[in-house]
Amino acid sequence: MAIAVHPGSFDPPTKGHVDLVLRGRKLFERVVVVVGVNSRKQPLFSAAERVELFRAALEEAGVTDVEVLSWEGLTVEICRRVGATVVLRGLRQGGDFEAEQSIALMNRRLDPGIEAVYLNSREEYLGLTSTSVREISRMGGDVSAFVPTVVASALRRKMGGS
Ligand code: ADP
Repeated sequence: MAIAVHPGSFDPPTKGHVDLVLRGRKLFERVVVVVGVNSRKQPLFSAAERVELFRAALEEAGVTDVEVLSWEGLTVEICRRVGATVVLRGLRQGGDFEAEQSIALMNRRLDPGIEAVYLNSREEYLGLTSTSVREISRMGGDVSAFVPTVVASALRRKMGGS
């Protein structure tokens, strides 16, 4: 069975991300979550915070065998380093497919040994994005339906609540 890398921004991790890892965990020998460090983006949570949040979210879901690390570099390079041959990503509504296809085509040019595998989002998470979670939080809304408890608490703290 193959090893899969699940890369993303995860700013913050949502229930959609955790669900994807849980389902990927059944398909692959190992799943490694890779929190992307993008120096051109100004994230709400630092890379170290996103790593910690994803770890805590997985713990909350009872997952103990998924590694979470941060990475500033090419996805194909972190795949090679951890011995992964699969990039696992999720497909929601709208533009995900087109965006994913161009990423996958470029990754294949960079390393033909790495395949992209997509899982369809569960229906209840189809419209769920980290961007909308950040926006709702900024406006004081309740995001507990969309993110693990640890993430909801971290968002409250970040937004100046308790
Ligand atoms: P990126 O900036 O790399 O798109 P994201 O953190 O937004 O990072 O998403 C990481 C991966 O998780 C992507 O493959 C995305 O399609 C998937 N994903 C995000 N939200 C959901 C969701 N609600 N359901 C299923 N997959 C999702």
